[in-house]
Amino acid sequence: MAKYRVTFDKELCVGAGYCASADPQDWHVNLYKDGGDGKAELAGATLNPQTGLYELIVDEAGAERSKKAEAVCPVLAIKVEKVE
Ligand code: SF4
Repeated sequence: MAKYRVTFDKELCVGAGYCASADPQDWHVNLYKDGGDGKAELAGATLNPQTGLYELIVDEAGAERSKKAEAVCPVLAIKVEKVE
């Protein structure tokens, strides 16, 4: 089964929230009003200290969902790529 890597550059994120609207199952924004940092979060993703990017390996269904988020992010902070 194909695997995909979703990467998220939190530094680029401006908290626009379009990702969470496009794919609410995987993305949400930690709002300032709730004590958050005003940036998006990809559920289950971990920070790669070498790249500074959050990463998550997903199946095809997860990739299709995050591709919707990738398509609407205004600062191109989300990328989905096939890894095998
Ligand atoms: S759409 Fe992009 S900039 Fe907006 S909250 Fe999501 S990741 Fe951040």
